Amino acid sequence: MELACLDLEGVLIPEIWIAFAEKTGIEELKATTRDIPDYDVLMRQRLGILKQHNLGINEIQAVISELSPLPGAAEFVNWLRERFQVIILSDTFYEFSAPLMRQLGYPTLFCHKLEVADSGEITDYKLRQADPKRTSIKAFHSLNYRCIAAGDSYNDTTMLSEADAGILFNAPANVIEEFPQFPAVTGYDALKQEFIKASNRKLSL
Ligand SMILES: [Mg+2]
Repeated sequence: MELACLDLEGVLIPEIWIAFAEKTGIEELKATTRDIPDYDVLMRQRLGILKQHNLGINEIQAVISELSPLPGAAEFVNWLRERFQVIILSDTFYEFSAPLMRQLGYPTLFCHKLEVADSGEITDYKLRQADPKRTSIKAFHSLNYRCIAAGDSYNDTTMLSEADAGILFNAPANVIEEFPQFPAVTGYDALKQEFIKASNRKLSL
């Protein structure tokens, strides 16, 4: 019994905050954990900027619904779902990803949650747990699932290590260099091949 565990942003959809910053022209929203390593500080800053621009959940979802999954992502997810049980492990928020998940046919998604007031204002955020990607893989192992995981960045590496096989997908050069233990591929065709290789079943394209 095998699970395919996928990161979301950078693997199936664009980086939501960056795409949102581009759509709205709010440059300060382009900051990521590379600029502000403390995630809590970064999120407080993002929520402050949204409030300052009077952007509540409705306005944000309207912008995000104009975004599309990465080209080929929906077809890739369908391909994967025919061969594995697919679970997406992401550090995004359900409220942000919803318009994009619709376009991917609503695969199972484990991520975080926002707190939204009746007015639509985002008042806070709730992380589901610490180190959620690794902890999810541990939990799947306790259910006797073999896990093959793919992700594109630092926040995926504990998941890739914990999984029975980890794959870097469209990862930046510094991540590939720092984690040579994982095969690194570009494009969905190559990713399919890696899943086939990592499986303990005889799968084909
Ligand atoms: Mg990512």
